[in-house]
Amino acid sequence: MEEVVENMSDAGNYSVKRGDFTVPQEPLGQDKVEQGEKVEDADKTIHDIPTMRVNDEVKEKHIKPIPMPDDIDKNLQVKRERWCCWDSYVCPWEKFSRPGVLDLLKWKICEKTHPIPSKEELDRVLPVKSNMDKIKQPPADKIQVTWIGHATMLVQMEDMTILTDPVLDSFCGPIWPFGYKRHRNASCQVKDIEKLDAVIISHNHYDHLEAKAVREINAKFKDVHWFVAGGTKAWFLAMDVEDKNLTELDWWHGVEFNGVKFICTPSQHWCQRCIFDLNTCLWCSWVVKSSKHSFYFAGDTGYYENLFKKIGEKYGPFDLAGIPIGAYTPRYITKYQHVDPVEAVKIHEDVQSNMSVGIHWGAFALTNEPFLEPPRLVKEAMERKEMDCSKFISVDIGETWVVGDQREESKFMKCEADKEESESEESKPLLMGKKN
Ligand SMILES: [Zn+2]
Repeated sequence: MEEVVENMSDAGNYSVKRGDFTVPQEPLGQDKVEQGEKVEDADKTIHDIPTMRVNDEVKEKHIKPIPMPDDIDKNLQVKRERWCCWDSYVCPWEKFSRPGVLDLLKWKICEKTHPIPSKEELDRVLPVKSNMDKIKQPPADKIQVTWIGHATMLVQMEDMTILTDPVLDSFCGPIWPFGYKRHRNASCQVKDIEKLDAVIISHNHYDHLEAKAVREINAKFKDVHWFVAGGTKAWFLAMDVEDKNLTELDWWHGVEFNGVKFICTPSQHWCQRCIFDLNTCLWCSWVVKSSKHSFYFAGDTGYYENLFKKIGEKYGPFDLAGIPIGAYTPRYITKYQHVDPVEAVKIHEDVQSNMSVGIHWGAFALTNEPFLEPPRLVKEAMERKEMDCSKFISVDIGETWVVGDQREESKFMKCEADKEESESEESKPLLMGKKN
């Protein structure tokens, strides 16, 4: 039985320790935090951790807290409930409906799975490319993005190299065989990356957060800064990431790190890595904003119109967005946690993205849609809305793209064999039923 024990938004003016500094839960003057004045009601913390002032070490690292804006609806703020015998985060705007046991049985027993194209076919239409020379020399005045695979992107803007949701191994899951085989390799490994300044993590599912990659990054890049959502920090400390290199934030809070703003924004999802930790960590999307450029990383999410419109209203428009487009069939299993291509296009519009790249497809067969279908349905959804299809693209794995530059359409967009199969199955009702 669930019992509401705490609504963060009702808790009033208090502070929580987030990484190296105090982040006010209610708007608090920037100068007040920096001067280290005592914050009222400091005992009302999320995790009962005493508040800290911004210390000299933090100042040296040029990290400044950005308070939550004062016009965020309570319906879009972090909320926790008592679930089973622990406190867990919940999506406050809608009762999150996880698929029931019968749904899961129906999915596993009754739903058709599509065969993965052969390795030869995948090599032809979804090749794994690599252009590390281009990564070494990013343009000074534009954003450059490399899709390493699944939800892992390398974004370069204003001399800063940012990695998203690092998963690079050939398998994702708690332990083999409980997980997913990778059908297309990541385009590079940690050893291939020469410069890295920040890593942003959307949530702790195995296809978004890999212990091996985190350990390797932490060993190679001693000063890389990790941005994680509420409740996730302890896991990183256990991975030997130093506390000074960790910033844990709740929704709508942010920091300025070396002149670039990193703001934790909501998404509609959930977290779990083992049996007894359901939603003990928070899930999120990220806004990364400098004086010249902006990037939105949607992570892994279902669709909620008010949320994405609010993100667009507060922080848009964005020069670039990474938006999930895969893992959407069947909808009775996925609709609360994964957008389908039609909804991905809505996110692209809602957050006011100028250029979007489809992620969360092409590596693991998480759900039942044909393996190469997602980018084609994104294009069809854009066409149905009479929008410019070049504004929401999918790139090859390992392709390094200077955002806005002309590029040749990838071969997977014209993969006829897979297309015939997908058009005879779920894709038609998916598009027809959701025509805008
Ligand atoms: Zn997930």
